[in-house]
Amino acid sequence: MSAYATATVAAATSAPAAPCDAAQPLPVLGRDVSVPLVTGGEVTYAALDYAASAPALQRVWDDVAAYAPYYGSVHRGAGYLSQLSTDLFENSRADVAEFLGCRADDHVIFTRSTTDSLNLLAAALPRGTRVFVFETEHHASLLPWERRAAASDVTVSYLDAPRTPAQAVETLEKALAGREPYGPALVCVTGASNVTGEVWPVRELAAAAHAHGARIVLDAAQLAPHHPVDVAASDVDWVAFSGHKLYAPFGSGVLAGRRDWLLAAEPYLAGGGASRKVERRADGGVAVEWHESEARHEAGSPNVIGVYAIAAACKALTEAGFDALVEREQRLVARVREGLAEVPEVKVLSLFGDDAPRVGVISFVVAGWNSSHFAAALSAEYGIGVRDGLFCAHPLVRTLLGAEDDEVGECGAPEAAPGERSLNAIRVSFGAGTPDEHIDRFVTAVRELVTSGAKWDYRTEGGRCVPVSVSA
Ligand code: PMP
Repeated sequence: MSAYATATVAAATSAPAAPCDAAQPLPVLGRDVSVPLVTGGEVTYAALDYAASAPALQRVWDDVAAYAPYYGSVHRGAGYLSQLSTDLFENSRADVAEFLGCRADDHVIFTRSTTDSLNLLAAALPRGTRVFVFETEHHASLLPWERRAAASDVTVSYLDAPRTPAQAVETLEKALAGREPYGPALVCVTGASNVTGEVWPVRELAAAAHAHGARIVLDAAQLAPHHPVDVAASDVDWVAFSGHKLYAPFGSGVLAGRRDWLLAAEPYLAGGGASRKVERRADGGVAVEWHESEARHEAGSPNVIGVYAIAAACKALTEAGFDALVEREQRLVARVREGLAEVPEVKVLSLFGDDAPRVGVISFVVAGWNSSHFAAALSAEYGIGVRDGLFCAHPLVRTLLGAEDDEVGECGAPEAAPGERSLNAIRVSFGAGTPDEHIDRFVTAVRELVTSGAKWDYRTEGGRCVPVSVSA
């Protein structure tokens, strides 16, 4: 970064976050927002849907607000603010690389989201790649390979849900050993499940992949906000995550890792920014030289604010200290699990069992309750925002619920009538900004709803369960 831009940026951005007190949540936006209860009165909103989108860290918001007046076009602008923004944009790459523990020659590509990142990698696979993916993946890491397979000679093998971390490694070993011992292969695995919160044995899966000449991409959408990710130490080839789950909801994501497949591939999008030189050919067509850097896959004007926000979140979490964050979150996880275990009607969904390491994502069903009805009552009567549905991981949730294929409804919005048998689940998820009170309120609410029932009437409207009085 040039000296004059360094000075301006230093002045523009906020002071480093105070070290995290393990007993306290990190300040997030919306922490004081009140919502009405259908039964009367108001209560502070308990955002317990972090796995879908986490609230912005106050620190991220402050950094973005401090930078916003200095915002300018990046890469091609000659003006001071353009240069400053370009420096910030490129520095953000370095900050993200550091956060992820990338190798020196890894590329950090800014995308829109995890979904976008994995579609980018799917598009960049060498011809003939064999992809191995567990059926338990989120659709973002399950479907891009299938799509590429339909359009080329890439093939996808779906692996059955393992019931222990060791079985995951065994299943992968067996599948890889059975493939032809030549040609490119890729394993795609989630770091932490968006349904069960269970942490997968990433390092062991990476070792198994590499032992069989395959590469591995880590879907860290749910891992990165809760746990340090170390690309080099865990020896994964690529990692993908989303800003909006990492307390930086400004529309950016990341794909980071090995550059060779990315540089050998056609640009993800064709356009300005990705192209170094474009000229008319003698035959009347157009010849293009593409960039040999991250820019190759970042065509179009980049989302500078979104990228800066991700880097701010990475720095804020690092400065707060993952040890303290993990310790506090694990305390909250234990509290939720102990609270739910005291309600016999509640069944927590799990692949790997009680002892599996997990992040603050817990899904469950309640006997005699439709999950949509239960989630609606948590919101309307307690001001608690959770999620009900299949969480865009249909095969996994079906396996966990033991449901038949044709029994299960659409992603996130099955037809729900109060009192019907549940064909979907409820997910509570939390993280660095969650106060203990939200967890205590949730546990109390579950117990009260199960023992005393809902205080209000609900009905299904537009695929959602809603309180009757509000919708009538
Ligand atoms: N992978 C996992 C494990 C997820 O939980 C999600 C989001 N729920 C995604 C991928 C997709 O993330 P995004 O919607 O930000 O692309």
